[in-house]
Order: sequence, then structure tokens, then C-alpha cells
Amino acid sequence: VNATDVFVIGGGPAGLATAIAARRRGFDVVVADGAQPPIDKSCGEGLMPEARAALAKLAVDLPAEESRPFRGVRFASGALSVHANFPGQPAVGVRRTVLHRVMVETAQAAGVSLLWQTPVTGLCPEGVLVAGRTVRSRWIVGADGGNSLVRGWAGLGAHRQNRSRFAFRRHYRISNWGDTMEIHWGPKCQLYVTPLAQNEICVAVVSGDPRLRVDAALAEFPEVLKRLQGAEESSLERGAISSTRKLRRIHRGNVALVGDASGAVDCITGEGLSLSFRQAEILTQCFAEASLRSYAKKYRALSRRPAMMARLMLTLDWSTPFRQRVMRAFAADPQLFRRMLAMHVGALPPMAFAANGISLGFRLLSA
Ligand SMILES: Cc1cc2nc3c(=O)[nH]c(=O)nc-3n(C[C@H](O)[C@H](O)[C@H](O)COP(=O)(O)OP(=O)(O)OC[C@H]3O[C@@H](n4cnc5c(N)ncnc54)[C@H](O)[C@@H]3O)c2cc1C
Repeated sequence: VNATDVFVIGGGPAGLATAIAARRRGFDVVVADGAQPPIDKSCGEGLMPEARAALAKLAVDLPAEESRPFRGVRFASGALSVHANFPGQPAVGVRRTVLHRVMVETAQAAGVSLLWQTPVTGLCPEGVLVAGRTVRSRWIVGADGGNSLVRGWAGLGAHRQNRSRFAFRRHYRISNWGDTMEIHWGPKCQLYVTPLAQNEICVAVVSGDPRLRVDAALAEFPEVLKRLQGAEESSLERGAISSTRKLRRIHRGNVALVGDASGAVDCITGEGLSLSFRQAEILTQCFAEASLRSYAKKYRALSRRPAMMARLMLTLDWSTPFRQRVMRAFAADPQLFRRMLAMHVGALPPMAFAANGISLGFRLLSA
């Protein structure tokens, strides 16, 4: 290919979603990725209800036998535990490799040109430098992940916020885990457990310590460790950085960023994929309007709630006594946690933040 309408650099979930959405709007699309699919990545592997809906809109169909819907979320801290279900549709757990495979198949069927093991080496005024030649493109999308090079090439590296935590994940085969995503809070880290298909779960550990691995972290959570006894490990441990990053600009000229390349919310929210898919939708709408002018504004509107939820959730990491007070308040009034989850998935309006915050404040005084 010497020329295209849309050139997507990076064929992870964000790049593929953008490619599928652009193709559905009638554009010729090329995706180039340095890796070979299915591409794995350390991730919590939980797709929130909005991510599911966005995938359905892209006609990405997760096979029932390879994914597992889950209805709710449980927070546990010490001896305290609270649980709530999503107000509407369930979320779904799916192995990253399965998600990637299905997205690649959908992109292929939609007519996207996919170039694997083909790293992009730079940008030039005419287009994209790839495999020793230039491909001209009307629009260029940087979907090359958290360590994006496109960000620097396009002069979009300046940021307002940039904070990192460290994550490791491993899969286990286990039956009867239940159909709830669990977040276990400890003094040094959080442990998330996502139910996946075929009696498998994904255990991810996130902390401020780059050396804290899954086994050492599990020792802090005797309840989880006990339930995992005898479970077979079904993948190798894999690490990642969980970033909170807010860029000053996300597009310049004909280059726009999506997914983790464009910024990120802490992985505690489980919102990274949902944001990526919805960014793909608004970006390709801009392509259809032949202007990127409204991209940043719509992007900020999408990011506001997940960013606020991340800040809110990470306050639980301040100190164990504070977290236990909040957990006691949630346990005393289960509506509070239910409403927080509903806000998290966008089922309650922004004003509910204030009302719920005030109720939580009162509860904290007596907890
Ligand atoms: C520990 C952890 C847990 C998480 N849990 C969840 C969760 O439960 N739910 C959720 O929704 N989100 C979660 N996230 C966030 C989610 O994983 C990310 O938001 C998502 O992977 C972003 O996808 P992406 O396509 O932007 O980036 P990536 O998946 O990183 O894809 C980038 C692609 O670009 C390619 N690339 C890079 N450079 C080049 C180049 N020069 N040329 C060509 N190709 C290139 C790479 O090979 C890669 O395939 C989690 C993140 C972490 C770290």
C-alpha cells in the first residue's frame, strides 16, 4: 500500500477499534504493528458494561465459550467486605489474547489492511515511515500504547499529569470462583480477581513497588490464598506499568492519539478499554467531519468520570484506618456502594457524585 485514508500505528485494542470504526465509515484503513497476533498484555481483563456496549457497536462478538459475564464487584479489606451488582447489563471477563484475536478477525472481515511485525519508524510530512518506505495518509492515528513514540514524533508529549504504579498478573484454573470481580485492598497493594471463561481467573496485583510480585502480594491476602489452594497456574506472570497520564494535547495537524498513547486512568478503574473503544468512535466521527477540531473536547468529556472515579477509589489507598472507616460506612448502608458502582459505569448522573459524597461523609462520621 502506498497511500490510504487512515493509517493506524499500533494494532492493540485501541488501534483495532479505531480501524474497524473508520472502515465502517467507508475509509480505507491500514494498521501496522511491530508484534505478531494474538498480542498479549498484562491487564485485569475485565470489560465494564460500557466497553461491552462499545464492542457490540463495532460488531466485535466475544464468543460465549471464551468469555464470562459477571454481574458485580466486591471490595474486601481485612475482615470487611461489600458487594454490589451493576445496575444494568453485566460486565465481561475475557483473556486478552481472545479479545485481540476476535478484534483482528473483525478488522480483517471489515476490510482493514493489517501489517504485523511491521514497526513504524517515524512520521514525515507526506505520511508514515514503515518498512523502509513512506505510506501517504490523510489521517494518522497514534495507537501505540503507553510508551507511545508517535506522541513524541508529533510533538504531543507534554503532559499535565504523569504518575505510575506497577502491576503483575497471573492466571489460575479454578472452578466455583463465582461471577463477581473482586478488589482486595491491602496495606501495600490491591489485588484484583476477574472471572474468565473455562474456570479460569485473572489475578492482578497493583502497587507502588516495582518489586512486589504476585506470590509475595498473595501472602497479604490469606482469604484469597486459601481459595487458590490447589489451583493450577495457567499463565506465566507478566508485568506492566499502570499510568495516570493526562496530555496537554492529543492531536496536531493530521495526527491524533487514541488509547493509552493518548493518556490513561489508573487501572483500578477497569476503564482503559472502555475509554479506548469510545475514543475510537469519536475520533472516526471527526474523520467523517473532515476535522479534528471537536476531538479534544469530546475526549475530555469521556475522560472526566473515569478520572474522578480513579481519584475517589485511590483515596482508599491513603491509610488502612481510613479505608476501614469507608468500608464500615459502605457495610452499614449498602446503597452507598451500589450507587458508587452505578456512578462508575455511568448509570447515575454527575450530580449523584455530590449527593453520594455527602451521604458517605455523614456515614464516615459515625463509622
Ligand atoms: C495491570 C493493568 C490492568 C488493567 N486492567 C484493565 C481492565 O480490567 N479493564 C480495562 O478496560 N482496562 C484495563 N487496563 C487498561 C488497558 O489494558 C489499556 O487501556 C489497553 O490495553 C490500551 O490499549 P492500547 O491499544 O491503547 O495499547 P496496547 O495494548 O499497549 O497496544 C499498543 C500496540 O502498539 C504497538 N506498537 C507500539 N509501538 C509501535 C510502533 N512503533 N509501530 C507499530 N506498532 C507499535 C504494540 O506492539 C501494541 O500492540 C489495565 C491496565 C493494566 C496495566
